[in-house]
Amino acid sequence: MRRANTLMPAAGLVALLLGLSGWQLRRGEEDWRRLHERCVVADGHNDVLLRVLQGYDLTLRHKEGHIDLPRLREGGMDLVFFACFPSPQYVSRGPDDPDSCAYVVRRMMEALRKVAKRVPDQLAVVTSGSEAEEVIRSGRIAAAIGVEGGHAIQNSLDTLEALYRLGARYLTLTWVTSTDWATSSSDESSGKALRFRGLTEFGKAVVRRMNELGMLVDVSHVGERTFWDVMEVSSAPVIASHSSVYALCPVDRNLKDEQIRAIAERGGVVLINFYAGYLDSLYDRRRQGVLGQHRAELDSLRQHYGTDSPRFRALAGELLRPELEKIRPPLEVLIDHIDYVVRLVGPDYVGLGSDFDGISVTPQGIDDAGDVPAITRALLRRGYSEENICKILGGNLLRVFRRVCG
Ligand SMILES: [Zn+2]
Repeated sequence: MRRANTLMPAAGLVALLLGLSGWQLRRGEEDWRRLHERCVVADGHNDVLLRVLQGYDLTLRHKEGHIDLPRLREGGMDLVFFACFPSPQYVSRGPDDPDSCAYVVRRMMEALRKVAKRVPDQLAVVTSGSEAEEVIRSGRIAAAIGVEGGHAIQNSLDTLEALYRLGARYLTLTWVTSTDWATSSSDESSGKALRFRGLTEFGKAVVRRMNELGMLVDVSHVGERTFWDVMEVSSAPVIASHSSVYALCPVDRNLKDEQIRAIAERGGVVLINFYAGYLDSLYDRRRQGVLGQHRAELDSLRQHYGTDSPRFRALAGELLRPELEKIRPPLEVLIDHIDYVVRLVGPDYVGLGSDFDGISVTPQGIDDAGDVPAITRALLRRGYSEENICKILGGNLLRVFRRVCG
């Protein structure tokens, strides 16, 4: 959202009087840009803090990655949830161990607050929807904090509360891996024998405590059993911070129709993930095809440089890029997922959960956060009303943020 251009009506009048058809041609372009600027634009999930911990300066424009402040502003982004993701391999370490999950999350939060301190005129950390609205009104980006992976609380309600007090406003109950108290979509669908499925009693206590605290329960990554347990236990609306539609792309990470309906019935929101493999059911197969065609070259690079070396990754990237570029799904595929949710449950329960900097391949035309306005243009072309476009771009997420976190 940025200030509307007050010169436009006058310029339009002059153009009409002069009968300039060029102005009419340009008008379509200006319409969607102005609409994008008028709407609150919100993103429910990005992983850029992983980069920031490694020294990436969020205030400068970069060629790599999806997110930095200049590109967020170019994309007209107003409210952004920054995910704090700790690697689950350190789950058993004590909370003061520098490698422990809770410690890593605290370092990520601090890193974000440091950025906000350096550029207070551009970005402010917020802990409620009303605070976000104030920051957005002042022309700055509202930065909210989410924690990705229930392992971050290290099986302790005290740690959950400590993370809340430090500013975390959502917790994704699992990541790809299950926790000791909630099973993930990947584990539940793997066919392997699990100790339990869904939420344990402790898992239910986590959800109840989050409801009491005013913290959003995030069901992205969770298995179906966990999902339905959450629906039974949670007294507040829930979000899926970065999940797409199973009916269009049947992968375990996506949401089935009855799950989308349940989120909508309880007033929550589904935020669509931009990853090509979650949007286009043929993408992963096509990608495997490209890798297969270059198997011999990749094997020889691996032998020379080792699989994990940066040199191998750089050369393999160079080798595959032209062909991988060709198989990126078009932007319309992302719009199809938004459209599907709208047709299923109406325009009030869908939004954006890009997963920027956590995913490798985005649809064509969305190379980074600066390209988000293309979504507004595509929704207008699909015949969406301005009111509904504003809801989808950010109004829906902001509504749920306000309702659950104040
Ligand atoms: Zn994720």
